[in-house]
Amino acid sequence: MRGWIEAPLAAYLRPLLNRLRQRCAPTTFGKITDEDTWATLERARQDASMAPPRDFVLAQAPTLELDPRFELTGARLDALTQALAYHGILELRGTETRLRTHSPPSTPLTHGAIWTSLRHRDFSRAFAVFLWKVMHDGLKCGTYWDKIQGYEHRAQCGRCGLPETIQHILFDCEAVGQSLVWSIVGGIWKKKAPDAEWRALTPADFLSVGLKTWKDNKGRFRPGATRLWRIMISEAAHLIWKLRCERVIGHAEEDDWEHSQPLVWNKLQYVLNSRLAQDVESVRRKYGDSAIDRRLVLATWNRTLRDEPALPEDWTTWKGF
Ligand SMILES: [Zn+2]
Repeated sequence: MRGWIEAPLAAYLRPLLNRLRQRCAPTTFGKITDEDTWATLERARQDASMAPPRDFVLAQAPTLELDPRFELTGARLDALTQALAYHGILELRGTETRLRTHSPPSTPLTHGAIWTSLRHRDFSRAFAVFLWKVMHDGLKCGTYWDKIQGYEHRAQCGRCGLPETIQHILFDCEAVGQSLVWSIVGGIWKKKAPDAEWRALTPADFLSVGLKTWKDNKGRFRPGATRLWRIMISEAAHLIWKLRCERVIGHAEEDDWEHSQPLVWNKLQYVLNSRLAQDVESVRRKYGDSAIDRRLVLATWNRTLRDEPALPEDWTTWKGF
């Protein structure tokens, strides 16, 4: 990887990317659709590509101060594996002995396996970015604020008065959100795997969500349950983070503002239903080897659906679904 060496417009792109990484919500880019804007852009492009550019004053490179946490350099992969070794693997190792119904990964963990697991195809793109930031201490919460003069108070959770670490947000905070989301997730999991005991999740469960495998009583791999786990835990954790941002940033001016419980319930239901709908859509659009995918989709969601006994065996093709 060459990093920023020889990258065109690096002086502009680098601060821009740095700023984008500091955002806690996803950033979307619009595509120009109307002809007028296209024409303006085309004129600017032609002006800029003349040598020397006519009537074209190069803007000063943005002098945004770069926050070192969000800088990507050529050492990106090294930094990742170091952060992983520190946060992830150590924690993983600490919990494996405690896991009873969870089966530890069958092959020894390599950096490569962990790196790949961060970008599992069952994760939404936004969640993969979120997980990446967690691994790099790249989220604007907790100790991030300790080093910023005048903002040190933001390091504490406004609700609980404790350091607002990612662990606090995802598992310990008393604001309406995390405990409700996890209890709903636990309820769904009990329907999916009645023989497995549900216990409170740990940060290690969250960090290793892409590595966890589930087996049945006879030790046979359960691809559907494993996939549901990945989808459900990743979406739930990401939702909890988004709820926290809405509360802390979106409603910063309102004292003690909290989400209502039904709202949290609806948001989680919406997120999971969207993933289910995506699955059904992808099965319907595929041809050829879709039979395997269809079986996996059915195995993922079976036992979690409402009125399931009334559904046909292959509900992915059912029009009323
Ligand atoms: Zn809190």
